Amino acid sequence: MQNVTLNNDVEMPILGFGVYQIPPEQTEQAVSDALAAGYRLLDTAAAYGNEEAVGRAVESSGIPREELFVTTKLWVQDAPAEENTRRAFETSLAKLGLDYVELYLMHQPYGDVYGQWRAMEDVNREGLAKAIGVANFYPDRLLDLVINNEVVPAVNQIETHPFFQRAADQDLMREHGVQHQSWGGFAEGRNDLFTHPVLSEIGKAHDKSAAQVVLRWLIQRSIVTIPKSVSPDRMAQNFDVFDFELTDGQMAQIADLDTGTTLFFDHHDPEMVAWLSRRRLDS
Ligand code: NAP
Repeated sequence: MQNVTLNNDVEMPILGFGVYQIPPEQTEQAVSDALAAGYRLLDTAAAYGNEEAVGRAVESSGIPREELFVTTKLWVQDAPAEENTRRAFETSLAKLGLDYVELYLMHQPYGDVYGQWRAMEDVNREGLAKAIGVANFYPDRLLDLVINNEVVPAVNQIETHPFFQRAADQDLMREHGVQHQSWGGFAEGRNDLFTHPVLSEIGKAHDKSAAQVVLRWLIQRSIVTIPKSVSPDRMAQNFDVFDFELTDGQMAQIADLDTGTTLFFDHHDPEMVAWLSRRRLDS
């Protein structure tokens, strides 16, 4: 597996497995299958409701803990944010059945971001989260956080796929030592990504699928990617992307597919801000 080195020297696999929208009752099996297929980076979140199932699959895999890279995420907290963030982190660790995680991400750029970040800095200093980072931070919010805090986020996990490529975001992240991680690398299949003529045509030239072309394109941009699948065949297919290389011309063809806008949530839309900020987890 190819790794990236984060800004605090933690090593992170460039390809992992995401579990968003996998129902809790299917998650243990899916994660067990993913681990058997070779994935070592697992990406969950308190908001996904499946941390316990991820933890069970990790436990039963027998894979040495130091070979795994586990990410979970903090949901937006009520005040006092520092206290509640600590509690939320401890709840996630307990649900996962782990003593530490490799990466703890602030899931949304809302609420008392500073209070949440200070508590995350503490768990990082204590070694309970080997690295801390954020998700869904656009350049303005990311830069504000970087400039006004001690620990620079190791990762920013943002929507990134052929139709929303985030090149300017990536430039800014590079400048500040923040690793770009893609969520929704397949755009969850929107815009007919899996049968898209440009991606399929490029795939044919390498005897690969459109999905594999997309993952390879992300990897060649040095972006960490975490495709989700409940199918062992598709998990294996998505893992098999290290034996070919896209040419500069093919990278340029994919660059042309960028629309520059989200296919999911506009984090600047007041209705979306209100909706995400109102959501609270049960425990
Ligand atoms: P995604 O990975 O873009 O797409 C998943 C979809 O693609 C599923 O419907 C899956 O179906 C299908 N699929 C997977 N491999 C395929 C293949 N080789 N051929 C055809 N279809 C394939 O979507 P995502 O789950 O939204 O994003 C990935 C991960 O990013 C999440 O699981 C989560 O960990 C993370 N994420 C984070 C945020 C955030 O706010 N930080 C938001 C969204 C997602 P099957 O399962 O049936 O194979």
